Amino acid sequence: MIVGVLGGGQLGRMLALAGYPLGIHVRALDPLPDAPAGALCELITGHYDQPETLARLVDNATVITYEFENVPLETARLLAQSLPVYPPPQALETAQDRLVEKSFLRQLGIPTPPFLPVDSRADLDVALAQFGLPAVLKTRRMGYDGKGQAVIRQATDADAAWDSLQGAPLILEGWVKFAREVSLLAVRSSTGELAFYPLIENEHRDGILRISRAPAPNLTVELQALAESYARSVLAALAYVGVLAIEFFQVGQYLLANEMAPRVHNSGHWTIEGATTSQFANHLRAILGLPLGATAAIGHSVMVNLIGTLPDSAAVLGVAGAQLHLYDKAPRAGRKVGHITLRADDPGVLAEQLAALQQVLDL
Ligand code: AMP
Repeated sequence: MIVGVLGGGQLGRMLALAGYPLGIHVRALDPLPDAPAGALCELITGHYDQPETLARLVDNATVITYEFENVPLETARLLAQSLPVYPPPQALETAQDRLVEKSFLRQLGIPTPPFLPVDSRADLDVALAQFGLPAVLKTRRMGYDGKGQAVIRQATDADAAWDSLQGAPLILEGWVKFAREVSLLAVRSSTGELAFYPLIENEHRDGILRISRAPAPNLTVELQALAESYARSVLAALAYVGVLAIEFFQVGQYLLANEMAPRVHNSGHWTIEGATTSQFANHLRAILGLPLGATAAIGHSVMVNLIGTLPDSAAVLGVAGAQLHLYDKAPRAGRKVGHITLRADDPGVLAEQLAALQQVLDL
């Protein structure tokens, strides 16, 4: 069975790994000849809008999926004419534009941070007057890992924020004083079966995910149920198939949806060791219409992203319980080059493992 994947980054690589035990072959398409998935699966080098390249991707494939949300929508729509594309192109379309995404979530009754479209300097002043400070100006499209964003802390920051981002359609968001950031990974198979992982607590630095803790500490049944109810609405509205990640700001016992990713997600990497079935295995099961695997956490996990520099592998592996994942990527500032997962049955033991890892990594 062949699964065509648009994108050959580390997510494609981990999808390929999850496919092996099931005899599922991943075939990735990526513009870069040294894309990380290439070491593990068939890699087609080419652009997402080349008909002959797309023909090679779909040849004998059962289904097409994608591992990043900036895949051209036209490509997803075109491919969907010949075979299933999951998650459906409509999910891609919704997630690609922050204004469309947040409006969609609001229509479903899911709270979000306050937002207004900004198409001119005058719009920015109107939105700032409405939300107050601080506020965050974001490009509507192509933003990731904190890129395409400018925080406006005082009135005098507005000009610089506008100058740095103007030209692209923008959105201004009111600042949310959240207690923490959490994400939910939901799965829906093409047969309609649903599964949810426990909420994950995420810590970002410079707009990039640094540490995930799963299940989120002090997770209540009520908070999990609230997140799942929001996810159910999204999955149903989009006739969704595959893994869906929704990132929330937690304020008290409420959740405001910040964004969604129609794909496997960095905050779910812990599931490889820390859950009964990994997000990657469940994504493949979901898009192929196979029964989903159990999503329960096995004890407690912490996932630490390796950003910008490669660690000393021997030192990391010397930390009890540390599982090291490297993506075969050349280190570069701000680039995710790997991750480490720690897992333990007891939270106290996990804290000791994390303290030991902190001796090795600059966390
Ligand atoms: P995003 O690209 O929207 O996920 O934003 C990256 C990070 O910036 C988030 O994970 C938050 O830590 C922070 N952030 C973004 N939007 C807001 C907001 N409206 N209020 C507070 N923090 C925000």
